[in-house]
Amino acid sequence: MIHTHTYDALVVGGGGAGLMTAIYLSRAPNLRTAVISKLYPTRSHTGAAQGGICAALANLEEDHPEWHAFDTVKGSDYLGDQDSIQVMCEEAVPVIIELEHMGLPFSRTPDGKIAQRPFGGHTHHFGQGPVRRSCYAADRTGHMILQTLYQNCIKNGVDFYDEFQVVDLILSDDGRCGGVIAYEVASGDLHIFRAKAVEFATGGFGRVWSITSNAHANTGDGVAIALRRGIPLEDMEFYQFHPTGIYRLGILITEGVRGEGGVLRNDHGERFMERYAPTMKDLASRDVVARAISKEIREGRGIGGKKYVYLDATHLGADVIENKLPDIADFCRTYLGVDPVKEPMPIQPTAHYGMGGIPTDVECRAVDAAGQVIPGLYAAGECACVSVHGANRLGTNSLLDLVVFGRRGGIAMAEFCKTAELPPLPANPTAGIEEQFRRLLVTEKGEPAARLREEMQDVMQDAVGIFREGPGMEAALVKVRELKQRFKNVLVMDKGKNYNTDLLEAWELGNLLELAEVTTVSAINRTESRGAHLREDYLDRNDQEWLKHTMVTRTEDGSLAISYKPVVIKQFQPKERVY
Ligand SMILES: Cc1cc2nc3c(=O)[nH]c(=O)nc-3n(C[C@H](O)[C@H](O)[C@H](O)COP(=O)(O)OP(=O)(O)OC[C@H]3O[C@@H](n4cnc5c(N)ncnc54)[C@H](O)[C@@H]3O)c2cc1C
Repeated sequence: MIHTHTYDALVVGGGGAGLMTAIYLSRAPNLRTAVISKLYPTRSHTGAAQGGICAALANLEEDHPEWHAFDTVKGSDYLGDQDSIQVMCEEAVPVIIELEHMGLPFSRTPDGKIAQRPFGGHTHHFGQGPVRRSCYAADRTGHMILQTLYQNCIKNGVDFYDEFQVVDLILSDDGRCGGVIAYEVASGDLHIFRAKAVEFATGGFGRVWSITSNAHANTGDGVAIALRRGIPLEDMEFYQFHPTGIYRLGILITEGVRGEGGVLRNDHGERFMERYAPTMKDLASRDVVARAISKEIREGRGIGGKKYVYLDATHLGADVIENKLPDIADFCRTYLGVDPVKEPMPIQPTAHYGMGGIPTDVECRAVDAAGQVIPGLYAAGECACVSVHGANRLGTNSLLDLVVFGRRGGIAMAEFCKTAELPPLPANPTAGIEEQFRRLLVTEKGEPAARLREEMQDVMQDAVGIFREGPGMEAALVKVRELKQRFKNVLVMDKGKNYNTDLLEAWELGNLLELAEVTTVSAINRTESRGAHLREDYLDRNDQEWLKHTMVTRTEDGSLAISYKPVVIKQFQPKERVY
């Protein structure tokens, strides 16, 4: 059965970005707004964010938005767009105060101000050493943000469609976005949601890799839908590996541990980051630290020759650990049987964050490969690429990106809805997706999604992870394309309609495979090393040829076309990057 709903504005995703947009939409008069989310909103991955959200509040020492902007540009390896970065760093200060006024329970300094701690790559005086810039609520910052935003949405009467999975975008024949198609998880019914403006805030796609900090639901649905609908994806070769995931499990140990003074040690007990980043040491940017750890492991200095090193917080004392990092202590005791007060934690880098995604301008309007705005379509948060993170994101800049651009998206959509008309529905809007689901359900003999997913994750981890080189990635691309073929015959055991998570997981695997392919194609194409993208066959950054964004579009014949977009450079000229 197909149901139809009509709104002015729709937000797809109930994480930090989507909820911030919804709050702003709900404040606009006479605007009918709904949030559609495949998860109950407070289960979104934003709730797993631990370490903090940064802003140059200068509560504990001198700090300025310009210093923050410089650090972000340098962290991005000069690929971040400096107009967006400036907006983010300037709006950081008022937006944190706004969160505080909404009721967010930040940790406090003894005199009652919002507490701040250092994080990787955040410095004072343009690179002169760590600065305390990250605001936090113990190690549950994301959880507190999500709860605060959700409560405010409820207070403002936002409509929620929870456990509705958006499976397609409605584009009218003249190229305007006119809504989405969603699959109701409980009933298996399709719903057509019509609207003048739609924002994708569907989060990341860390499930492409085998060792990942990302939740099971982080399958990049919005990004993959955009690709299928002919919208380009920007800078997909840049995927961040966080230095400190729990060995083999990938569960994140926040950088806040190093912010509070924790250090990395190899098998000799050596504090090896001193060799790689003499000034910032353990608080260098993530790409630098993740690479250093991987190098130690490769050169045989992992603990006992194994694939991990130690994160040592034992010298911090029980007080700091129990009060400032309580959840981390809990994870380690539960999942590892390790008490971080007494023993070091075994860690390895873990797939963490997609710098690339759906290209947008600073008003969160999605743009096509020619840079033209797609009327009515917006994107914010991890699924978007407004390019504040460039080739490598700094810790605590993502939560900031969510609230700054979530807010901007809400304001821009409300303004757009004042004059926009509802686009006409194209003929048969659900035909494409019905066909996709029908195909998934007819197979009687095939391979389970879990097997294909594991093969994809393994090859991506090995060949399109922290270290990359041409032939390895070419082989990975062949493998991913073979998996896409095999996926056509994926076996969904559950043929029912109610809570068919088997079907949805297979559909999500289809998305992950698309994104694995685009990531690999983009990474093969970029013959230089920059930020998170390290090519052992092209070790240097090459500004002459590669100071540009990659745009990959699925063309009508099914192939992937590559084009480029210039980087916006303002006051910070590209320089060599040392920490
Ligand atoms: C373990 C961990 C710790 C982190 N710690 C920090 C930190 O301390 N500081 C920091 O700045 N960043 C941190 N990050 C990064 C940051 O948390 C994420 O980038 C950010 O929360 C993403 O927010 P989002 O709103 O874009 O998406 P999410 O919070 O992931 O929400 C996505 C939403 O989209 C919905 N959705 C997805 N697909 C569909 C679909 N098909 N149909 C309908 N709804 C859909 C989901 O239901 C969900 O509500 C961390 C990330 C992880 C994984």
